[in-house]
Amino acid sequence: MMTAQILDGKACASQIEKEIIAEVSKISRPPHLVVVIVGGDPASKVYVGNKIKTCKRLGIRSTLIEKEANISEDLLKSLIQELNDDDDVDGILIQSPLPNHLDEIMLTDLIDPLKDVDGFHPINLGRLVQGRTDGLIPCTPFGIIRLLNYYQIPLQGKQAVVIGRSRIVGMPMSLLLASQGCNATVTITHSKTEDLAEVVKRADIVIAAVGRAEMIDNTWIKPGCVVVDVGINRVDDASHERGWKLSGDAHPNVSSTASWVSPVPGGVGPMTVMMLMQNTVTAAKIRRQR
Ligand code: NDP
Repeated sequence: MMTAQILDGKACASQIEKEIIAEVSKISRPPHLVVVIVGGDPASKVYVGNKIKTCKRLGIRSTLIEKEANISEDLLKSLIQELNDDDDVDGILIQSPLPNHLDEIMLTDLIDPLKDVDGFHPINLGRLVQGRTDGLIPCTPFGIIRLLNYYQIPLQGKQAVVIGRSRIVGMPMSLLLASQGCNATVTITHSKTEDLAEVVKRADIVIAAVGRAEMIDNTWIKPGCVVVDVGINRVDDASHERGWKLSGDAHPNVSSTASWVSPVPGGVGPMTVMMLMQNTVTAAKIRRQR
């Protein structure tokens, strides 16, 4: 029986943090990230607070714009336009999720692709489809590749199974793993995949991005497999004072079969935030060179 080693996202992010601080110090004017939050969703507030704090530590300028939950789509459109036109702004992030009356995809499509630090704009995702990985790449998949590289996990020629095909994680993750440079052989799976456990069992690397607590257990995992757990799920837990805990998509027992596992929390999460910082610096550099 194996006990998997930990893909420590905090350790990797803190190494990258040093590199970004050095990169920022070479830029004449600090990169400037604007974060827009609409409404008072407590989880979103925590995420945004964390992003702003990280900016401060890295010497990246940040501005937080808070809007009431009932803001109209037109007002939000004009805010995005203003930020696009403002030469002083390098990166724009609209915190997800937006309230239901706002069309999130339509609105984020209005962000100037050169300032799209989330990397979700069709132009930036389209660049990934073309195999161009030098632009703004969605933060979570980008962070996962950096984490795997940090621990020198071989990807070339390996069987990678991605569970989930979202615009934010699963699909860009699959494209990155298949791109030149990573050279993995990728299987994309989703809620309609038949015999998912059998498909996952063939994998050398599993990326679990489903959003279902502890769905993947050790009976799905080939011995020695690398498991990257993207899921963030709140589950009831009476042993915690607050009555709940965060749990990933992988069951803790995968550690008995896998060679490496990313923890939740402390795995993919810190990498996602650090890649937002990386994208902000990249956006500033690309735009200022034009
Ligand atoms: P989505 O809900 O957008 O996508 C989930 C994907 O999982 C879909 O493609 C869906 O398939 C698939 N799926 C759902 N049920 C099953 C099933 N039973 N079997 C196989 N596939 C299934 O979620 P996201 O991609 O945005 O996020 C996934 C998870 O990652 C969430 O827990 C989220 O909180 C977390 N997350 C963590 C981040 C981090 O920084 N750590 C960042 C972003 C997300 P279908 O397409 O058929 O519906």
